[in-house]
This record gives sequence, C-alpha cells and structure tokens, in this order.
Amino acid sequence: MKIDRQRRSSNVEDRRGQGPSYARGRGGGNSLLVNLAMGLLFSRAGRRLLIPLILIAIAGFVFFPDQMRGLLASVQGGQGAAPMSAPRGAASDKEVDFSTAVLGSTEDVWGKLFAKAGRTYHPAAMVIYSGGTRSACGSARAAMGPFYCPGDKKVYLDVSFFTQMARQMDAPGDFAQSYVIAHEIGHHVQDEFGILASAHKRQSALGRGSAKANAIQVQVELQADCLAGVWAGQAQTLSSVTLDAGDMKEAIKAAYAVGDDTLQRKARGVVVPESFTHGSARARMRAFTQGFEGKTIASCTSGF
Ligand SMILES: [Zn+2]
Repeated sequence: MKIDRQRRSSNVEDRRGQGPSYARGRGGGNSLLVNLAMGLLFSRAGRRLLIPLILIAIAGFVFFPDQMRGLLASVQGGQGAAPMSAPRGAASDKEVDFSTAVLGSTEDVWGKLFAKAGRTYHPAAMVIYSGGTRSACGSARAAMGPFYCPGDKKVYLDVSFFTQMARQMDAPGDFAQSYVIAHEIGHHVQDEFGILASAHKRQSALGRGSAKANAIQVQVELQADCLAGVWAGQAQTLSSVTLDAGDMKEAIKAAYAVGDDTLQRKARGVVVPESFTHGSARARMRAFTQGFEGKTIASCTSGF
C-alpha cells in the first residue's frame, strides 16, 4: 500500500502522551541527570566514583571540548523533549502519519460516494492516544481496542493496537491497519445514515446482552466490515492510495484475525456463537469482500 501522494486528514487529534500513565513525566525534564548525580552523592560507592568522574569530565572538556559539548547537548535535548512527546514504542510519528493518510483517504472516498447519493458527508475526527483518554462514550483504554463513539463522532485509536495486531493476532501489514481504521469509519458512515441509532433502539427494546440484541450487533459489525470493503474497493479510484498485490489478502487475514470466533478460541479455547458481537471470521471476510466487489453504499444495505 502506498500513501505518499494521499492528502492527510485535518481531523486528527493527537493526544499521545496525555494518558494517565504518562502524566507523571511532565515537568521532570532533567530528572535523569539529577537522579544520577544524587545517586552518586548518596551511595558510598558513588562517592568513591564521584571524584574520578569529575576529573574525567574536566579532562574531557580540556582535551575534547566539541565532543563533550555535543554529548551534553544530546543528553539535555533528549530529556527536555521527552515529557511532551509520546513514549517510545507506544505510537510512533510514522504510524500517526499513516493513520492520518488513511483517514484522509476515507474522507475522499466517502465524500464522493455521499455526493453521488445526493448527500453531504460530515467527516469523523480521529483521536490518537496512548494509554488512556476520555470520550463521550466513557473513558478509553488501550486494552479496549479501536472504537467509534457516536456521542462525539470520533474514532478512538491507540496506536499500540497495531503492534499488538501484528504480534498477537498474526495480522501484520499496513493494509491490515488501514482495514481497522476503515471499519471504524464504517461505523461513522452507519451513524450518518441513522443506522447506529436505530440498531441501538432495537437492542434496548430486546434487552442488552440478550442473544437477539447480540445478533443485531453482529449485523452492525458485519455491515461496517462491508463498508470498509467499499473504501478498499474505491481507494485507488476516488483517493490517492495505491494498493499492492498482497493487500487484499492482508485485509482478509485481518478480518479473519479479529473475527469473534478466532478471538474467543484464542482466549478461551471454545467458541460460543450466541455471544458473538462482531461476527465469525468467515462472515467478516465475506462482508469485506461484498463491499470490496460491490464498491457502492448500496452493496452494503442488503444482507445485513
Ligand atoms: Zn466495529
């Protein structure tokens, strides 16, 4: 998948490093240097080491002044920048840029498809966070995985999910990641059509958690997969994304990996179909393909 030419979305809220687990880092810019110095001062071995270290430092500045200044600047610079930026490994800038491009592509595709249907597409925002954050649907935690909140019309994405997806679910690859974003945007498209609201109303009437209410949830999830398929089928024509030969297989593998039966089997070793809320792996693959081949909103309105 190539996204270089793709317009980046302006609807991304970067909340990395604002999660509760990283709040402590704020204001502690030089803590490493200070801790190191304090540790040396207060430990017996440290006190013995301190004088030779100071002598080495003085010698360093006398004989290699430029190198020592560079070393000091890099230590200070790295520490100073740390509290405001994301923790390493949780969500790299590259992943955020990728997600921003994918969101831009979904906006291009859905904007044009809505216009064709005589409607206006109101883009959803995407919140990229690390650890945890607040949403109109309650607090978001990385363990929940990506989700769409109809209350504030935002997709919540913890980018560490991508790493988790590659490691634990055997679904690596950039197209698999964009499938996840396209699925969440699929929920926003459902929201734009009032499908989410009516599904929630029917579920409440049936009693949440009941087998019939779960069946409605499965239909909602499969339709979002179908809409993700429509995006994938149109991404090359209606936006500036280029798909590679293996991308479709990658997305199908991702759809399979996040199927309820696959997840349940991994978690419990058994499959309980009545408790499915996202659909079986086979059903998810079928729904995605239906949208990919149909390429229109209408191709996802029947069978769900
Ligand atoms: Zn979903």
